[in-house]
Amino acid sequence: MSKIVFFGIPAHGHTNPTLEIVKELVSRGHEVWYYSYIIMREKIESAGANFISCDNYDAEQRLSAKDATRVGKDLAFSTKILVDTTLALDDKVCNDMAELKPDCIVADSMALWGKAVALKLGIPFVSSTTTFAFNQHSAKIIKQSIGDLLKMIFAMPKTSKQVKRLKDKGYPVKNILDIIGNDDKTHTIVYTSREFQPFSETFSEKYAFVGPSIRTATDKIEKNRDKLIYISMGTVNNDMMPFYKKCISAFKNTDYQVIMSVGNLVSVNDFGELPENISVYSHVDQIAVLEKADVFVSHCGMNSVSESLYFEVPLVMLPQTAEQKGVAERVAQLGAGLKPDKSDGDSLLKAINQIFRVNTYKENAKKIALGFSNSSGVRGAADKIMQVCTAQNDGNDAMK
Ligand code: UDP
Repeated sequence: MSKIVFFGIPAHGHTNPTLEIVKELVSRGHEVWYYSYIIMREKIESAGANFISCDNYDAEQRLSAKDATRVGKDLAFSTKILVDTTLALDDKVCNDMAELKPDCIVADSMALWGKAVALKLGIPFVSSTTTFAFNQHSAKIIKQSIGDLLKMIFAMPKTSKQVKRLKDKGYPVKNILDIIGNDDKTHTIVYTSREFQPFSETFSEKYAFVGPSIRTATDKIEKNRDKLIYISMGTVNNDMMPFYKKCISAFKNTDYQVIMSVGNLVSVNDFGELPENISVYSHVDQIAVLEKADVFVSHCGMNSVSESLYFEVPLVMLPQTAEQKGVAERVAQLGAGLKPDKSDGDSLLKAINQIFRVNTYKENAKKIALGFSNSSGVRGAADKIMQVCTAQNDGNDAMK
């Protein structure tokens, strides 16, 4: 029996894929502890892990609204916040680890305190990456990120004070990239396939591309027309009433059935009476919808795109953030979706009609789906973690 400690961040998209791995490890008889946030407690415990709260230690949670907007933009400030959280957790985590003696730490690529403590205590480490794996090659697709990396390098002199704070507490870091960066020597789980990851051949054998983890649908969706279009701009930046209204005008006189998920920032009542072929919800069981959908009009969050392609549904893509643009770029490269010329109703309709006219979009979506189902999945991810645990134990045995 091994003991594994996970570290997560308060985001569902980052936590969900790890929960399937937790279940798998627990079912194999291993013990799992999970440092995360109260909003994740229920699902972490139902997956079978022991939950430990980071809420009272996390410096980002205590920022004023004004300072919160600096995180991610001002790198010196962001580094300070990360180091504050790491040091606030230091006593507790180091004491817990001395008692638990875990065989391995698995941390989200953004829960930097997980990697920092693994380095400090010499505990084997696995990074959990819910976006594309990043290196100088894949940066060509995730264009913004190379700019971010450059900014980070230029901001590094300003981060030296923070590095010193970590060193003073026994963390063996030479520069902030030691914990922020992910290199070819770090064991890494990536939740996509080798085929979908850009430049996957440039990543070392330490990377396990295990494919997306797709939950099971709980609802049943009724398909009442020949073609079903699903529209969602995700769960975060979805306050887009003018766009939703454009969609309604564009689709009201078509033969398509349209299901639109608009989130909680707009009120479903504000849409008034809807055309007979269009339904609007604040939230849907997206898996249940995608099982029946023919095209997904999406903001291209990594989870939405993976889910869409898993069910062989081509995409009309309206990415908003740099990360979403990178994901959309990859889908376009592989020919499983297209970006409309503009985001007005006519361009949207034109893009959808194009997907139905040219069947390569569907064929390419099917190819990607095949790559996903041929990936090693949750079992592969659990095997990877166990290899890291076993290598550690073998190393200890050899020293006896
Ligand atoms: N989702 C859902 N119902 C909805 C809208 C979204 O279940 O009505 C789920 C979707 O299946 C996906 C996640 O929310 O797993 C959205 O993640 P993504 O990375 O695509 O975008 P984000 O919301 O983080 O921008």
